[in-house]
Amino acid sequence: MTASPAPARVAVIGGGPAGLFAAERLRAAGIDVDLYEAKGSVGRKFLIAGKGGLNLTHSDPFEVFAARYGARCAAVGAWLRRFDADALRAWAGGFGIDTYVGTSGRVFPLDRKAAPLLRGWVRRLREQGVAFHVQHRWTGWTQSGELSFQTPAGERSIGADAVVLALGGGSWPQLGSDGAWVAVLRARGVDVAPLRPANCGFDLDWSPHFAQRHAGAPVKPVVVHWQDDDGTPRALQGECVATATGLEGSVVYALSALLRERIARDGHADLALDLAPGRSREDLQAALSRPRGRRTRAEQWRREAGIHGVKAGLIHEVLPREVLDDPLRVAAAIKRLPLRLLRARPLAEAISSAGGVRLEALDGGLMLRALPGVFVAGEMLDWEAPTGGYLLTACFASGAAAAQGALAWLRDRGTASDRGCRERPRDP
Ligand SMILES: Cc1cc2nc3c(=O)[nH]c(=O)nc-3n(C[C@H](O)[C@H](O)[C@H](O)COP(=O)(O)OP(=O)(O)OC[C@H]3O[C@@H](n4cnc5c(N)ncnc54)[C@H](O)[C@@H]3O)c2cc1C
Repeated sequence: MTASPAPARVAVIGGGPAGLFAAERLRAAGIDVDLYEAKGSVGRKFLIAGKGGLNLTHSDPFEVFAARYGARCAAVGAWLRRFDADALRAWAGGFGIDTYVGTSGRVFPLDRKAAPLLRGWVRRLREQGVAFHVQHRWTGWTQSGELSFQTPAGERSIGADAVVLALGGGSWPQLGSDGAWVAVLRARGVDVAPLRPANCGFDLDWSPHFAQRHAGAPVKPVVVHWQDDDGTPRALQGECVATATGLEGSVVYALSALLRERIARDGHADLALDLAPGRSREDLQAALSRPRGRRTRAEQWRREAGIHGVKAGLIHEVLPREVLDDPLRVAAAIKRLPLRLLRARPLAEAISSAGGVRLEALDGGLMLRALPGVFVAGEMLDWEAPTGGYLLTACFASGAAAAQGALAWLRDRGTASDRGCRERPRDP
């Protein structure tokens, strides 16, 4: 009798949703999985996402959903075809966590929390035999091709039959994903687009007076107007928040890729805010033309146009003092307040990252062409999407795709070298 070959051993590095999901898929196929995480616990960014209600995915129809990934919609769409929003909801349901569709079409767990899901997930992975190694910071490869880690006990080098890197992007680095991997992979000949802020705020350099009085104030409702590159006028209703230096919030995040690229090209990006959606300029002009008697200007704007607080502050910020009593100019500013955005906020503050490992550097199984046996998943790949659950969904879907790629690669290699997986990989 011949001994059956030892199961393949895969190192998954990075304990965010992409890495955890790749580990789950690999383990389900009978692979020995070691999960390495730099921090003392996994899923820190996932937990922070839970503070905002954990927008797990979106109820968009498939084609609309895939289109959210812009230039990368074909590649991300291919991952999503194997693991989509419905599959993600069903997966969460497997932990007894039901989801619901909010008014905006976004999908949340009923309790809007990440911690119960993450706890249940890690417990199940441990029970299934995934070995967790926290406080293991991956630093690259040794001369002999082993993975090297910094650990509290010093440097460790570890061998593996294949590797899945799921190290995240560069936003909120205090949670673990600090983008330090960029230099390591570039040194190995991997094409990595610079990490840039996505779903981020922008600086406008307010006056100290505005910043002091209105930082933190929500500007809502508001309609943002802008022009596409071909001059087509566009508009989007939503909410934003004034910060000490500029604007942030959902409507700004939704436009952040366009604004960031425009600033890179022109040095600035122009928007106009409609501070009174639902009222016409003529109506506002007529209302503001009524004699104000003993009322202050601020009182008149509030009563006649519903403009006060941060909205009034914005008009003061933009219009010259001498036209503040001109109903025509003020009504026009309320309907189209021109704002010039100067800079994206730093990557560390952004919700997510653009840039990362270029998809052209990978084969169809998400394996690095420059480093056979090394697969990549999650936000460290070069795609971006707006908020709305699209980020997490693509992290899960790419985790599944990288696991499937690794399984196929190990299977082929096992056939060639008589070494491989104990069980035939299941199609995820
Ligand atoms: C405030 C906030 C709210 C968010 N809310 C949502 C939301 O509601 N919905 C949504 O879809 N998305 C949301 N996101 C985005 C989402 O959380 C991320 O896109 C997602 O977590 C990325 O998953 P990932 O597995 O690719 O990377 P990460 O979650 O960043 O995980 C990467 C892991 O790798 C580890 N790591 C990094 N370098 C090393 C190394 N050298 N060695 C070992 N380990 C390493 C890190 O410590 C980390 O644990 C939010 C993000 C933020 C910041």
